[in-house]
Amino acid sequence: MNLSDIQHFLSDRAAAFLKRDRHALLIDGQWVPAAGEGTFVTRNPATGKVIGRIAAAGAEDVDRAVRAARQAFDAGPWSKMRPVERQRLILKLADLVEEHAQALAEIESVDNGKSAGIARAVDVALTVDFLRYMAGWATKIEGITHEASVPYALQAEFVTYTRREAVGVVGAIVPWNFPLLVATWKLGPALAAGCTVVLKPAEQTPLTALYLGELIGEAGFPPGVVNIVTGDGPGAGAPLARHPRVDKISFTGSTEVGKLIGHASVENMTRFTLELGGKSPVIVLDDCDPEVAAAGAANAIFFNQGQVCCAGSRLYVQKKMFDRVVGEIGKIADGMTLGHGFDAAAQMGPLVSQEQMDRVCGYIDIGRSQGAEVVAGGGRQPGEGYFVRPTVMVNVDHGKRVVQEEIFGPVLTAMPYDTIEEVAAWANDSPYGLGASIWSNNLSKVHRLIPKIRAGTVWVNCHSALEPAMPFGGYKQSGVGRDMGRAALDAYLETKSVFIAV
Ligand code: ADP
Repeated sequence: MNLSDIQHFLSDRAAAFLKRDRHALLIDGQWVPAAGEGTFVTRNPATGKVIGRIAAAGAEDVDRAVRAARQAFDAGPWSKMRPVERQRLILKLADLVEEHAQALAEIESVDNGKSAGIARAVDVALTVDFLRYMAGWATKIEGITHEASVPYALQAEFVTYTRREAVGVVGAIVPWNFPLLVATWKLGPALAAGCTVVLKPAEQTPLTALYLGELIGEAGFPPGVVNIVTGDGPGAGAPLARHPRVDKISFTGSTEVGKLIGHASVENMTRFTLELGGKSPVIVLDDCDPEVAAAGAANAIFFNQGQVCCAGSRLYVQKKMFDRVVGEIGKIADGMTLGHGFDAAAQMGPLVSQEQMDRVCGYIDIGRSQGAEVVAGGGRQPGEGYFVRPTVMVNVDHGKRVVQEEIFGPVLTAMPYDTIEEVAAWANDSPYGLGASIWSNNLSKVHRLIPKIRAGTVWVNCHSALEPAMPFGGYKQSGVGRDMGRAALDAYLETKSVFIAV
């Protein structure tokens, strides 16, 4: 690849990786081209320039990857490894990710558009912590023992217990907003549980998964334990989701695709967990310092260019503070500098793709056409790259599309409310239920509100805080199951009940 415009920002490791002419698939420990020799390109969102040519997997490649994962699970060395050896390998991988943190952050930055500094401090740091957290579970997988009372075998005695067993071959399909981190949210618990994996990164951001694939080899995981198939949704994701020899699908992405995957999974009774879209409310109570609330709300929506499934995209402010808080957020938005991921002065980067930029701008236009008033931002930033100005809309009716639909960009809709009961009802008036934040120091009001909110995570005086041990996932159409924490491990284990008559 010709990297002349970004070369001087890159460490030697990142430059060497990005210079390659082609990136291959990882199947059974080998880097191979796609069976049909097809490729696709990935672009730097800050410039629109091509930065990688990637193998485009099709159904035949997915099938080979699933067979390799099957073999490694059913007969290969993985199934014979002791838990402590799985733990050691995952810890070794965490060490390697830490050692390569700068290269991974730089590659994530040029592939996704996010700041390299944030990629290192957030994406890569959480990846390392999460791998270490999940490595610990490999040696703590436990069932129960039980004293049975079988009503029709009064004379018999039983030894009864449960075993937790790895679910098998996992298909992991991940999105482009936190490519490395979300891939690890699937790989970590799968490997700790003893599963094997076929990972399909998003076609917009395949590079850090491929780099991770090399580190997986270096860590010493046996061939076939982790396979990586790059390609688009219909070409590579769909054959993986409907493959009859996959035991579990773990998906993060849009609700629309999540439903397709759910349907495909039910056909084979494949287990599935889905972490889907959101339209998370940010609720500012009347005791709050307006400046603190404004800074928090701005960060809740503009972090990662608003491309966060739990982004705080609906702001509700008690009406006596509404103008003040929204005025402050407008000032923050107007003052934000947009720039590429290596620009230390930039507070926001480009969106991931032309398609995403057009989609987000389309929503801003829909908001305007449905009567919303744009008080900050309002469209793309002229020039190269996929930059959209941070945007704030007011005077928008609760039923309108910009309040109800996930935009997945730096676009906030702000609405005043009167009572706690009213704001609780509005917060829940959404098909989604991924996250919510409450801004207040009034403990009793906060504690009364938390149980009323139908969302998988409630933050108080913060938003989007994540931690390896805390489960993350959605109520309602935001998904099924949880990533992270003990809950994630459980999703990669079956439970077997054993009765022994003695
Ligand atoms: P977004 O709309 O944000 O791009 P998607 O839900 O389309 O999110 O994509 C998330 C992941 O799902 C990506 O890896 C994508 O390739 C994959 N994907 C898209 N469509 C399908 C599909 N029909 N079956 C399986 N995977 C898909």
